[in-house]
Amino acid sequence: VTVVRIETFVREPVGVVRVTAADGATGIGQVAPYHAAVAALVVHEQLARHVLGADLDADGGIDALVARCRQVERKFAGSHLSRALAGVDTALWDLRARREGVPVCVLAGGRPGPVEVYGSDMSRRWTGAEQVRRLLEAHERHGYRAFKVKIGTAVGARGADGDEWPGRTEEVVDAVGGALTGVAALLVDANGAFSPARATEVGQRVEGHGGVLVEEPCPHDDLVANAEVAAALTVPVALGEQEHDAVGFQRIVAARAADVLQPDVGYVGGFATALAVARAAVGAGLAWTPHAANRSLVAVQALHLRAAAGGVGPPVELALDVAPWAAALFRPALVVVDGHVELTDAPGWGVEVDPAWLAGARRRTSALDGARDRRADVRHLVARAGHGARRVTRGAAGALRRGRS
Ligand SMILES: [Mg+2]
Repeated sequence: VTVVRIETFVREPVGVVRVTAADGATGIGQVAPYHAAVAALVVHEQLARHVLGADLDADGGIDALVARCRQVERKFAGSHLSRALAGVDTALWDLRARREGVPVCVLAGGRPGPVEVYGSDMSRRWTGAEQVRRLLEAHERHGYRAFKVKIGTAVGARGADGDEWPGRTEEVVDAVGGALTGVAALLVDANGAFSPARATEVGQRVEGHGGVLVEEPCPHDDLVANAEVAAALTVPVALGEQEHDAVGFQRIVAARAADVLQPDVGYVGGFATALAVARAAVGAGLAWTPHAANRSLVAVQALHLRAAAGGVGPPVELALDVAPWAAALFRPALVVVDGHVELTDAPGWGVEVDPAWLAGARRRTSALDGARDRRADVRHLVARAGHGARRVTRGAAGALRRGRS
């Protein structure tokens, strides 16, 4: 199957990618959310040339294509390339799975069915009491058996021990830790707010409440600091949402900076890369869990990732709240029953992007026809240049014969 067209549809902060094969089959994917217009630009300016005309049935398929994109564009290795690559990669997985009439998780070697999720609260504005009320209500309504809450602060210098207001971290950990006992597991996320000493102190408080995960206690790129915390705590430390390739995870593991790896399908550069990270974790006996901080398509992809790779670790992250920008994106909406989302046997990602959403988005297209036209232009220029050169040569030969040179 050959890809002949790549379209991007941008409605910030979301960017959808649609790939079309020579036989008209299509696949839908998504670049990593936030600054989606930049990711879409990278799709067309840097990646389209490697994808258009590529044969997905050739050796290696999507894996090989992703590897080639990374290899050729190696001078641009980093977050922006991976965010864009995720859009192309996830659209190709959808295309291939739809052509075979199976869900992506099946194409990747897994099975559909119920996937356990944890309710992830993205806001730091709640007091301890408000946080408890929200989580108990969500537990009552949807049966979540695990929740993640934010601690520390997401603003200001990383690792500087800031808090949203003085004492909020202790207030929330104690209130939620107490209220969830016997109800649901407690996970916390510091977004790199803490120094090792403060992270260890807070982590021990989480341990005191039987908590099960401390995410990004120290700045994510300070592996030494995170390793210090991981060694000091019995509760597992998690890292990985900021990594944009598999090598980043190898560094985390080599530094013993985390006990649980958290690949994000969007940020890490797509399903193939996330799957490779997850499988490496499973192979090494390490815990892992998909990272998915909103209910755009990345939430769906995270479910397929868990269903495909299996292994041990916390349930799949699912944002408690549906942001307005993600609410109208696709159908059917994700439904949480008894703390699980059911992955059906619908082909591809099992969802359709709402046509009204697409109609309201900024669209850009790269097509193989266009590429052929450009190549034809080049052939024409080369032919003209050749004709000119032959004329010059003939002129020179004639001048030589006439002895005037
Ligand atoms: Mg996080």
